[in-house]
Amino acid sequence: MTPTGLSTDVRTGMRRTVLISGAGVCGPALAYWLHRSGYVVTVVEKAGAPREGGYPVDIRGTALEVVRRMGIAHRLREAHVDSRRVTFLDADGGEIASLTPHTVAGGVAGQDLEVRRGDLAAILHALVRDDVEFLFNDSIDTLDQSGQGVDVTFRSGRRRTFDLVAGADGTHSHTRERLFGPEEQFHRYLGYCFALFTMPNTFGLSREVVLWNTPGRAAALYAVADNDELHAFLNFRQPRPPAGVLHSPDAQRDLVTRVFAGAGWEVAGLVRALRDADDLFFDTAGQIRLPHWSSGRVALVGDAAYAPSFLTGQGTSLALAGAYMLAHALATHQDHTAAFTAYERGMRGFAAMNQALAGKGAATLFPATARALAQRDTMLRGLVTMPSTTARPAHSALTLPGPAPVS
Ligand SMILES: Cc1cc2nc3c(=O)[nH]c(=O)nc-3n(C[C@H](O)[C@H](O)[C@H](O)COP(=O)(O)OP(=O)(O)OC[C@H]3O[C@@H](n4cnc5c(N)ncnc54)[C@H](O)[C@@H]3O)c2cc1C
Repeated sequence: MTPTGLSTDVRTGMRRTVLISGAGVCGPALAYWLHRSGYVVTVVEKAGAPREGGYPVDIRGTALEVVRRMGIAHRLREAHVDSRRVTFLDADGGEIASLTPHTVAGGVAGQDLEVRRGDLAAILHALVRDDVEFLFNDSIDTLDQSGQGVDVTFRSGRRRTFDLVAGADGTHSHTRERLFGPEEQFHRYLGYCFALFTMPNTFGLSREVVLWNTPGRAAALYAVADNDELHAFLNFRQPRPPAGVLHSPDAQRDLVTRVFAGAGWEVAGLVRALRDADDLFFDTAGQIRLPHWSSGRVALVGDAAYAPSFLTGQGTSLALAGAYMLAHALATHQDHTAAFTAYERGMRGFAAMNQALAGKGAATLFPATARALAQRDTMLRGLVTMPSTTARPAHSALTLPGPAPVS
């Protein structure tokens, strides 16, 4: 995307201004494209810096073309984690099957990228930090659209007016809440809770994932490269979202301890590590489904608009593709309402197709009943002898508009 003149306000002759809430994956990607098409961009992030570390995420299908057009594909390839295998274990720790990650996730070996979330956020931030204003340690307090633009007050007390605002502030987006109301209306609970934390790699695991299952319970260890720390993951079926737990780490630790009591393999050690962890992240698995992604001069993008949940492995790819589609719509329509309509028209089908992958993800990774687990294990053993060779169509179902720059 190159400047088209549409980023200039016809009334004032000034370049249009946009505020993006959130410097995760989607926010800096959107900032990159909007800056390239001539917008003056500010990003506000509640954390003090781009968040480091974190579990690995996948970039697949259409999103690979987005990062290629951004000129960062080679840097991401250097950061590629390149997990070699996923080993599935039964209740006692016996091996059921060991497969390549692509066979499990329906991706394309040699093309898909798997990078630490923190590495991706740092690469995106480095790409735009000299061209875009970043306000760290701050967030939007109020949005007022009654005038010619959006009057924003920040938590810090600053006040500024922008032509447009984009909410890229993740699944629990405050921008969305200010626009459309409480999250409960739009959050589709998928029946699982999970706890994520790091622990010492005392297992000697390297470039691999180990996944233990019993019906409705799963424990995973994710070894990135030869790191001496593991990403541990405890996931369990919970028919209704647990009350009073989401804001209390102590209650989260107690709930997970109860759910995994008596579990075999090394799970007791994982639960002990969870109790000691200082980086525990607990949440419910859920999707965001909204009837509209914008209101007035404010639009939502990435997880804030259409979080697909980790069960799809497509959150990052959707965030990157959505940032491109929103910026492209704003670069090709003078009127923001027309641009937001075009963005939604271009992106909705792709988001829906990828959200629909959650059921398959749950069936493969977290079977909830003994019967479903037995069927899953049979399917895995079949994949060992005859691996699937086709990529999931949903990953590449969006063709990016606009010319592909020659690299
Ligand atoms: C356990 C787990 C495993 C996952 N596994 C995968 C995977 O394998 N593959 C994959 O593709 N995706 C995975 N994801 C999802 C992926 O991380 C997200 O879908 C993706 O990062 C979406 O990007 P985003 O920028 O929209 O949101 P986020 O990455 O959540 O970024 C939002 C940003 O907004 C900031 N923010 C929040 N509130 C405010 C506020 N009020 N004001 C200012 N800033 C704010 C946050 O600090 C953050 O920096 C996983 C997610 C989880 C939780």
